[in-house]
Amino acid sequence: MAREQTVAVVGAGLAGCLLATLLGRRGIPVTVYERRPDPRVAGHERGRSINLAISTRGLAALEEVGLREEALARALPMHGRMVHPLGGEQNFQSYSADGTRAINSISRAELNMALLEAAEATPGVTVRFGHRLTNVDAEKGRLTLETPDGVVTEDVDVVLAGDGAYSAARRMTEGVEPFTHTQDFLEHGYKELTIPPVDGEFALSPDALHIWPRGNAMMIALPNLDRSFTCTLFWPKADFDALDTPRKVREHFEARYPDVVGLMPDLADEFARNPVGSLVTVRTWPWVRSGAGATVALLGDAAHAIVPFYGQGANCAFEDCVEIDRCLDETGGDWRRALSIYQERRKPNTDAIAEMALDNFVEMRDRVASPVFRLTRAAQHALERRLPGRYVSRYELVSFSTVPYAQIPERLKRQNRALAAAGLAAFAATGLTVRAARAALRRRAGGSAGAA
Ligand code: FAD
Repeated sequence: MAREQTVAVVGAGLAGCLLATLLGRRGIPVTVYERRPDPRVAGHERGRSINLAISTRGLAALEEVGLREEALARALPMHGRMVHPLGGEQNFQSYSADGTRAINSISRAELNMALLEAAEATPGVTVRFGHRLTNVDAEKGRLTLETPDGVVTEDVDVVLAGDGAYSAARRMTEGVEPFTHTQDFLEHGYKELTIPPVDGEFALSPDALHIWPRGNAMMIALPNLDRSFTCTLFWPKADFDALDTPRKVREHFEARYPDVVGLMPDLADEFARNPVGSLVTVRTWPWVRSGAGATVALLGDAAHAIVPFYGQGANCAFEDCVEIDRCLDETGGDWRRALSIYQERRKPNTDAIAEMALDNFVEMRDRVASPVFRLTRAAQHALERRLPGRYVSRYELVSFSTVPYAQIPERLKRQNRALAAAGLAAFAATGLTVRAARAALRRRAGGSAGAA
C-alpha cells in the first residue's frame, strides 16, 4: 500500500488557513507551520490592523468551507466610494449600476481568526505556532524551522507555502533555471490612522469606502464594526518623513484633509507611532518546484503579492486555494500534476490583477476627483443598465464576478470595439446625453451628503 503523503502548509494567514481547511475536508492530513505565536494569546500587531474589502471572489471561496455568512456577519457593506475633494463637496459614486452591490469591509485579523478556527476545527488539521520556516530542501524533502525551543526539521512530501509577500519558501525557487523573480516597490508607503466614533456613532457615512484623492497621494477610510474607521494614508515615503513634529502633522492635515482633521483626536500620536509599510508587486516563476524528496508550491502573496488598490490581494489568494483543491479533484489527488496545472492556470490571472491593481491606484488617488471620470462612470452604469450582461464595467468584472482576471482586459476591449462600431447609434440607444448625465450627477451629489 502506498505511504500516505506528509503535507505541510507554511503560514497560518488567510490563504494558509483556507487551504488547510479545504485539504482537511478532503481527508488529507496537514500540518500548518506559523511563525507567529497564537494570536488568541498574543494579540495583534499595533498600527497594522488593516481592514480588507472582501468581494465576490473571496466570498465564493469562503462559501466552499461554509464561512461566507460568518464573514459577512463580521463585515460592513460599502456600496460605493465617498469622494472627498479638496475644497469641494463630498460625492458618492456607486460601485454598481443599480446601487445594490457592495464590497465588504472586514478586519484582516478577524477574518484570519475565523479561518484559523475553521482550520483547527477540521479533522486532520494541526496548527503549530511559533514555527518560523528558514529553509525548504526539495531534494531531501525537509523543512527547517526555528521555534522558541530551538531549530527543528520536519520530513515532508508536499509543501504549500502561503507565507506572505516576503516568503522564505520562495527562495527555494530562486536560482532554479529558468526562473523569474522581481519585487517592484512603489515609491509610496502606507500608514494607518483612526477616526474613532463620535458620541458612539460613526463619524462618517459607514456605507462607503471614503477616499481623499490628492493627486500623488491619498487617504482612504473603511468602517469597522466598533463604529470607528481605519484610515490608510498612501503617500510617497518621503512625505511621511517630512512631517517630523506634531505641529507639522496637524498643519498638513488641516491644509490637505480639512474635513476630517477634527475627527482624529490622536492624529499626531498615531502618526508618530504607527509604522510605514511598503507596497510591493511580486512577480515570480515558477511557483512549483519538484525535487527528489518533495514538491513545493507557492500561493497567495508568496506567489504574487500585489498592491492593494483593487482590494483583491486576499480575494485572489483565496482563489488560489480553491484552484488547488479543484486540481486535486481533477487529478485524483496526484500532487505533482495538480500543482503543475494550478500554477499554469493561475499565473495569467494573477499577472492580470497585478496590472489592474497598479492602474487603479491612479484612478483612486487622482481620477475619481475629476468630473470627466464621474461622467464616464455614469455613462458606464447607464450602459450596464441598458445592456445587462453585454456591457459590464471593469470594476464590476473584478469585484462582482468570478470571471478569470486574465479574461477581463480582452473582454473590455471587445465591448469597447463593439461600442465604437455602433458609434452614435449605441450612444443614442442608451438615452444618455451629456446633459442628462450631468443632471443625473447633480441629483446624485445633492442626495448624497450624509447618505449612502
Ligand atoms: P498573509 O496574510 O501575509 O499571511 C502569511 C502568513 O505567513 C502570516 O501569518 C505570517 O505570519 C506567516 N509567515 C510569514 N513568514 C513565515 C515563515 N518564514 N514561517 C512561517 N510562517 C510565516 N486584499 C484584499 O483582498 N482586499 C483589500 O481591501 C486589501 N487591502 C489591503 C490593504 C493593505 C494596506 C495591504 C498591505 C494589503 C491589503 N490586501 C487586501 C492584501 C491582503 O492583505 C493580502 O493579499 C493577503 O493577506 C494575502 O494572504 P496570504 O495568506 O497570502 O498572506
